[in-house]
Amino acid sequence: MSYDLIVIGSGPGGYVCAIRAAQLGMKVAVVEKMKTLGGTCLNIGCIPSKALLYASEMFEEAAHGLGALGVVVGPPKLDLAAMMKHKDDTVAANVNGVAYLFKKNKIDPVFGVGRIAAPGKVEVAGADGATTTLETRAIVIATGSDVARLPGVEIDEKTVVSSTGALALAKPPAKLLVVGAGVIGLELGSVWARLGSEVVVVEYLDRILPGMDGEVARQFQRLLEKQGFRFHLGHKVASVARTSSGAKVTIEPAKGGEATTLEADGVLVAIGRRPYTEGLGLEAIGVAMERGQVVIDDHFQTNAPGVYAIGDAVRGPMLAHKAEDEGVAIAEILAGQAGHVNYEAIPSVVYTSPEVAVVGKTEEELKAAGIAYRVGKFPFSANGRARAMRHTDGFVKILADAATDRLLGAHILGYGAGEMIHEAVVLMEFGGSAEDLARCTHAHPTMSEAIKEAAMAVAKRAIHI
Ligand SMILES: Cc1cc2nc3c(=O)[nH]c(=O)nc-3n(C[C@H](O)[C@H](O)[C@H](O)COP(=O)(O)OP(=O)(O)OC[C@H]3O[C@@H](n4cnc5c(N)ncnc54)[C@H](O)[C@@H]3O)c2cc1C
Repeated sequence: MSYDLIVIGSGPGGYVCAIRAAQLGMKVAVVEKMKTLGGTCLNIGCIPSKALLYASEMFEEAAHGLGALGVVVGPPKLDLAAMMKHKDDTVAANVNGVAYLFKKNKIDPVFGVGRIAAPGKVEVAGADGATTTLETRAIVIATGSDVARLPGVEIDEKTVVSSTGALALAKPPAKLLVVGAGVIGLELGSVWARLGSEVVVVEYLDRILPGMDGEVARQFQRLLEKQGFRFHLGHKVASVARTSSGAKVTIEPAKGGEATTLEADGVLVAIGRRPYTEGLGLEAIGVAMERGQVVIDDHFQTNAPGVYAIGDAVRGPMLAHKAEDEGVAIAEILAGQAGHVNYEAIPSVVYTSPEVAVVGKTEEELKAAGIAYRVGKFPFSANGRARAMRHTDGFVKILADAATDRLLGAHILGYGAGEMIHEAVVLMEFGGSAEDLARCTHAHPTMSEAIKEAAMAVAKRAIHI
């Protein structure tokens, strides 16, 4: 079979790339080694985690939130099997949706492990052992990422789990030790904390959410502590030993010092993800790699002719929407158009309670770059809608260039932050200023009014504080 484009990997990078390429008239095949389409994101990442985050938030609301609104219910009972069914049904609806979109766009899914035999040639080893060779003008590597492992710590996906196992635990562990205070550790830690686990987080750095705005991270940590989280910051895991009922985890101060042993019923290793390119044959065809990532130029091209790469397998934030936008861009470039991704305006969301949503630079980054900036802040405790919904935790922080007022960053800690961040994203795409944001009429009463007020606060003219 001969194609214009073969995409290896059907995650958000790969499947979106395939659809856009098909829209542009290309004959496309997608090679996928899992049984279903959609990659990490749809099968064992974004989608199942959000299904459990939503369901567990409802459980928590029923237990502790509704009474204050005058809605009296008895203590809620956890039906974990039903909650997991909701998660599985959500995953199925999404992966089947991708299969439908492939049919609609006449894209050939090819199930099996793909290997680039040579530029223009992809070998697919099927589950039945048979190998098929496909010919193509262009190849896009969209093979994504895999769980990063702690040396010497065996993940059995039952007691010591990665994010994949943490999405399918048979019961809430009485005590869950989470290694890593990044997005995935805090999201999945939140799920199990709401369902009854005592959650203890061990983090190597002396802060949570590395890379995000420090002020947001500090306030978020206090809110998580109010929810029962306990943190051992500045500590590393020295060993994890299985016991008959769980695990003993020995931690040491990162800077050196006395070790402590913690007992837990479950351990979630959430120290990050690493690019996944095993078995692709990249060494044989001489594709340049750096720190496990496929090296690409500004047009997603590797050093091998006709071989491109996108998503978690290449540099940049490991986010589904970044992979999707790169998929669109490379499809358009291959069709002779000017595909492009603006890496300055990629939002990032932590889907906890409250949510954290950010776009652009942090204060720390601006300081390090020597860029003069002005800050506008507004707390949700002064927002009418937030009070009406009892979601007053958190604040909005707007960072604008001191000389031009151009928006440089927006940081939101609060209920619904993940939806609200996009007005800042759109504004940044258009090179807008804090003044532009401040002069846009925002519907009243909405949480989003806090963004307008924070933008007004940049010029010290917030009204409601
Ligand atoms: C628990 C969890 C929650 C997350 N939540 C979010 C979130 O809320 N928002 C967000 O933006 N991101 C989230 N992410 C990250 C997100 O899942 C990734 O950034 C995204 O999936 C990357 O997309 P991708 O297309 O590059 O790769 P992937 O989604 O990893 O897809 C790669 C695909 O390639 C296939 N593949 C690999 N090698 C081969 C081969 N040789 N032959 C055939 N197929 C192959 C794999 O089986 C896989 O299906 C989350 C991740 C996890 C683990």
